[in-house]
Amino acid sequence: MKIGMKEDSNTVDFGHARVKRGEKSGLVREVFSEVSETYDLFNDIASLGFHRVWKKYALWLLNLKSGEALLDVASGSGDLAIKATELVKPAGTVVMCDINDRMLEHGRNRCLDEGKLIPLVKANAENLPFVDNSFDKLTIGFGLRNITDKTKALNEFKRVLRPGGKALILEFSRMSDGNPMKKVYDWYSYNILPKLGELTAGKSGPYTYLVESIREYPAPDQISELLKSVGFSSVRFQPLFPGGVTVHQVTK
Ligand code: SAM
Repeated sequence: MKIGMKEDSNTVDFGHARVKRGEKSGLVREVFSEVSETYDLFNDIASLGFHRVWKKYALWLLNLKSGEALLDVASGSGDLAIKATELVKPAGTVVMCDINDRMLEHGRNRCLDEGKLIPLVKANAENLPFVDNSFDKLTIGFGLRNITDKTKALNEFKRVLRPGGKALILEFSRMSDGNPMKKVYDWYSYNILPKLGELTAGKSGPYTYLVESIREYPAPDQISELLKSVGFSSVRFQPLFPGGVTVHQVTK
């Protein structure tokens, strides 16, 4: 499969560029370190608040129940995790995990501000520090695109989920050529988003990466194939926001 072949090679995508395999995670770390302070503001402005709707809908799809244990991978500022605590309380647990200190710090400050006690763990999704079968559910919101070895990360998701556990992947997707919204979406992405980045974070580079990384990310059916190849069952996906965002759901 194409994605597998790409991942096996010595170079990987970083936006539209190809970089050495070992370099990508450092470059991604720089991107998120540069925008951590203004991350939430940018999301609200750039998506006109829609990212909140997508995240709320994703959690509704996952059908979290009181008492369940959820791992939110690539948790960033904690939007999914913070909302999820309301759904698993009083006896459930939510754990946030991210590779980036600055994003974790920002997430921790938000948890404190919102009066939430959520354990935060610094970890690479490709090597999760949890024992097998520890979680009922797992989420990753807008994170998979940034991970160097997606197969390795998905294997880790499967390992830490209990049998019958469910994972949900919320991610941007490039619009297909036949999509009537594609021209406007591409124009907005390449022309407006980097300018919004300039306005909010004082730099456009991280947002050029955002736009390009969405175009390099495999199409939803390729992601489904990858999920099946890792051994997940009941693999299904649903496009949101006319194909610009996709949610995949799978079962271990
Ligand atoms: N999930 C949050 C949300 O939906 O708003 C944050 C998403 S943000 C676009 C992507 C996050 O993925 C960043 O916080 C980044 O540090 C994290 N990330 C990137 N590569 C990672 C990896 N290999 N393992 C864990 N987290 C990673």
